[in-house]
Amino acid sequence: MLAARPVVLARLVLVLALLLAPRVAAADEVRIAVLAFQGEERAARDFDATIAHLGRALPEHHFVMVPLDLDGITRAVAEKTVDFVVTNPGDYVVLESGWGVTRLATLESRGRATPTDTVGSTVVAPNRPGRPIGLKDLAHRRLAVVSTRAFGGWRVIWRELDDAGLTPADLAGLVETGFPMETIFAALREGRADAGVLRTCLLEDAIAAGQVGADEFAVVGERPAPGFPCRLSSRLYPDWPFSRLAGTSPDLAKTVTASLLTMAPVEGRAWTAPQDYTSVHAVFRQLRIPPYDFLARVTLVGFVRQHWHWFLAAGLILAWWIVHVARVETLVRRRTAELTREIAVREKAEDEARANREQRDQFSRLGILGEMASNIAHELNQPLAAIANYAEGITRFIDAGRTDPAFLRDGARGIAGQAERAAAIIRRIRAFVRRREAERETLDLDDVVRETLALFEGLAARRGIPLRVFLAGDLPKVSADRVEIEQVLLNLLQNAVDAMIDTPGRERGITVRTSRDGADAKVAVRDHGTGLTDETRAHLFDTFFTTKPQGLGLGLSICRTIVESHGGRLWAENNPDGGLTMRFVLPGCAGERETEEAP
Ligand code: ADP
Repeated sequence: MLAARPVVLARLVLVLALLLAPRVAAADEVRIAVLAFQGEERAARDFDATIAHLGRALPEHHFVMVPLDLDGITRAVAEKTVDFVVTNPGDYVVLESGWGVTRLATLESRGRATPTDTVGSTVVAPNRPGRPIGLKDLAHRRLAVVSTRAFGGWRVIWRELDDAGLTPADLAGLVETGFPMETIFAALREGRADAGVLRTCLLEDAIAAGQVGADEFAVVGERPAPGFPCRLSSRLYPDWPFSRLAGTSPDLAKTVTASLLTMAPVEGRAWTAPQDYTSVHAVFRQLRIPPYDFLARVTLVGFVRQHWHWFLAAGLILAWWIVHVARVETLVRRRTAELTREIAVREKAEDEARANREQRDQFSRLGILGEMASNIAHELNQPLAAIANYAEGITRFIDAGRTDPAFLRDGARGIAGQAERAAAIIRRIRAFVRRREAERETLDLDDVVRETLALFEGLAARRGIPLRVFLAGDLPKVSADRVEIEQVLLNLLQNAVDAMIDTPGRERGITVRTSRDGADAKVAVRDHGTGLTDETRAHLFDTFFTTKPQGLGLGLSICRTIVESHGGRLWAENNPDGGLTMRFVLPGCAGERETEEAP
C-alpha cells in the first residue's frame, strides 16, 4: 500500500500537468478564428499561407488557426478565446458593432480594377425559356441560397431585391441548400428551386472546372461590372478583413498587421490596408437586421414618420372639429345672449302691456261708470225717495198726534232698509271702480248675472228696454273674479243697449240666458240691435275699435282678456232674425268637474 502511494501521487502530478499544459503553452499562443463556411479544409486551404507567414515573421508566437462556423466565431469573440478573427465582411460588421472587433487588414485580389471589392452575388437560373431575366422576375419563384445567414450567399442579393421593391415574402420561398455552395447547382437541376444565389466567380470557376455547362445557367439581373472578371447581379463589397479583438494586445496587433501587409501574394491574393466597410453596414441597415434590427422596431417617431399622412389627416380633422366646436359654442353663446335679450325685451313689453291693461281696465271701469252715472243716480234716488216718503209719513203721523209704536217701528225699519239698499249700491260701485288685484272665488254664474242685472235694471228701464232673464239654476261652479265677470256682463249689456238706439221701441229687448255646456257654464246676452257688419266683426275685439261717436273701443277687448284669463272664450254671433248674441263660456272648477264625471 505504502509503495503504491508515490505512484498515485506521480499520476496525479502528471494529470495536473496535462490539464495545465495547454494554459501554460497558451501564454504565447496566438489563436486566429477563421470562418470555415465551406468546411475546415477549405478554410485551411485559403488561410494556411497566412498563418504560416505569421509564424515565420513572428517566431516568438505560436499562431494557431481555429476554424469555426458563424456561431462558433461569435462565441469565441464573446468569450475572448481567440485573439484575431478572419471572417466575411457581413459577420465582421456584426462583430465590430457588438464586440468592438477592429479590422487590421483587408484581403485583396491583385489584378482586379478595385482589388479589395470582390464580394458580391450572382443569381443564376437554368437557361431555358421563361426563366427570370431581371431580379423583379424572382417574385413568386423559389430561390435557392446556401444559408439565410450568408452574406454574399443571400444578404447581398436581399438588398438588391429590396431595391427592386421585393421582400422575401414576395418570393415563392427560400430554399436553403447548405454548404458547399455548389449544392445550389444541384437544387436547380433537380427543380427544387427556380433560381439560386452564388458568390461572385463561383459560376465561372464551376464552368472552368467542368462542373456545369457553359450555357447551362443564365445570370439573372446581370449588372455591368467594368474591370471585374466575373458576372454579377449585385453591388461589390470589400473582401474579408483580418481583425483583432478589443482585448488583444496593441503591440501584438501592430506586429501582426505589419507582417500581414508584407506578406507576398498567394495565388494573387494578399493583405492590404484595412478598407472602408460602411457599404457593408449599409446592407444591414437597409435590411434592418442585427446590428440594425432596432430600425425595424416601431418607435414613436418612426411610426409617425411612416404614417404621417394619417396623422396629418387626423390632425386636420381634429383641427376642423375644434374650430367647429368653437364656432358652435360661439353661436350658441351669441344666440343665448340674443334670446336673453329678447326675453328681457318681451318681459319688459309684457310688464308694460300688463300696466297698460290695468290702466285700461281702470279707464274702462271709469268710462262705464260715466255712462252709468245717471243709472247710479236713479238707483240711489229710489231708496232716497223711499226714505223721504217714510220720514214724511212718520212726521205726518206724529203731527196728527198719533203714537202707535208699531207704525213708527215699521216706518223706521223701512228707512233703515232703504238706507242699507243705498249703501249696498254705493259699495258695489266703489268695489267696481277701485283698482284691485284679481280675486278668484268659487262662483255660481247665475248669482253674478243676478247681481249685475240689479245694477243694470234701472238704466234698461229708462231706455225702455225690457230685460228677459233665463237662469239655468244648475250651472257648474266656476272659479272666477266676481267683479271682473260683472264688468264683462255690464259691458255686454251696455253694448246691447247702444246697439238698439235705432231699434223701434216694441222690438227692443235684451235676453240674458245662462246654460250648462258640459262641465262649463255659458252666458248669452242677446239683443235686437244692428248686429255686426263684416268689417265690425273683423275688428270687434280690437283695442280702440269703436263705431260709436263717444266710444272708447276698449270694452270688448277687455272683456275678452278677462274671459280668456279665466280659461274661457268670448265670441259674437249675429242672430238670424237680426241683432247680436254675445256669448261667453267659463270652465267649471276642478271639484265641479269631478262631481260631474262621477257616476
Ligand atoms: P265701444 O263700446 O266703446 O265702441 P267695445 O269694444 O265695447 O267699444 O265695442 C266695439 C264695437 O263693437 C262697438 O263700437 C260696436 O261697433 C260693436 N259692437 C259691440 N257690441 C255690439 C252689439 N251688441 N251689437 C252691435 N255691435 C256691437
